[in-house]
Amino acid sequence: NELVFSGVQPTGNLHLGNYLGAIKRFVEMQERDAQCLYCVVDLHAITLWQDPQALKGQIREVTAAFLAAGIDPKRSIVFNQSQVPQHAELAWIFNCVARLGWLNRMTQFKDKAGKDRENASIGLYDYPVLMAADILAYRATHVPVGEDQKQHLELTRDIAQKFNNDFAQSILAHGHGEQFFPLTEPLIGGPAARVMSLRDGTKKMSKSDPSEYSRINLTDDADAIAQKVRKAKTDPEPLPSEAAGLAGRPEADNLVGIFAALRGITRDEVLKDFGGAQFSSFKPALVDLAVEMLAPIGAEMKRLVADPAYIDGVLADGASRAEAIAAPTLDAVKDIVGFVRKG
Ligand code: ATP
Ligand code: MG
Repeated sequence: NELVFSGVQPTGNLHLGNYLGAIKRFVEMQERDAQCLYCVVDLHAITLWQDPQALKGQIREVTAAFLAAGIDPKRSIVFNQSQVPQHAELAWIFNCVARLGWLNRMTQFKDKAGKDRENASIGLYDYPVLMAADILAYRATHVPVGEDQKQHLELTRDIAQKFNNDFAQSILAHGHGEQFFPLTEPLIGGPAARVMSLRDGTKKMSKSDPSEYSRINLTDDADAIAQKVRKAKTDPEPLPSEAAGLAGRPEADNLVGIFAALRGITRDEVLKDFGGAQFSSFKPALVDLAVEMLAPIGAEMKRLVADPAYIDGVLADGASRAEAIAAPTLDAVKDIVGFVRKG
């Protein structure tokens, strides 16, 4: 049985990388008729301080983006993490399974903590353990994410495996199969698994980049998209006729990859049409395509966030359905670990 889980942080500035690397692929998984859970991970968001009023708006905005992109809250389970207590509960148990050495290798912590590591929150350091709990509370088999999350998915598998080993006898004694937690498969791929900053082809497009010109936001209008693409960094060469020719040209590779992902084709297919073209002719075609794909999503997001009662209703309904799946997992985990339970 396929069970898909993924999350997006309500940290503002949802961008094209979030859409192409994650949200668009969430919709594709839903169309494959898998049971899908899509979570607005507000517990993760507060690993960096968030203004409380702004956070509420951002939670509703990510929810609106899910729905506007085509996630159907009847078929998929859409909810915010803090309304399902099993995430934090399982994270504690996993804190006692995961090893310090494993977490010390996580590159996202190093990037986000920056130079002042002593001053980073414990939550930021522990982020990957909570993420493992998010996934394994549902015993999810597949997790569609961008490439930046690959290392965290490997840690999730390590935690699952260590739990299965450490408690092997108890798992069997309680009547479960050997693989109590599945070894979850990351689904990373397509031409936009790692969308790069428009200002620097070696840095990922990110919500937290201080430069607005580094990213295309889902709520950008046609003018903003046109301006950002026009200013996007490029090199002086024309486009090559095959994807192999993009090697060593990170900015060109990124723009062609974005075009491919928006169209649902490969880089090679894009270059069949644009091989030999200058950026002065490729960029306007990219603007047209981006506007065509994003304008309806942005408009629907605006319509939805104007109705917070509706959004909050979707999240409440999703949270009860999510909890109905996660609660039995936690009951079993508590039995396996050896806690005394009320009858
Ligand atoms: P932050 O800077 O706050 O971490 P973010 O842009 O990385 O923000 P997340 O909420 O952490 O956004 O990630 C949501 C999903 O979007 C994840 O699956 C992540 O892998 C994916 N994602 C984020 N940035 C990119 C990108 N540049 N290209 C492709 N996928 C991305
Ligand atoms: Mg991130």
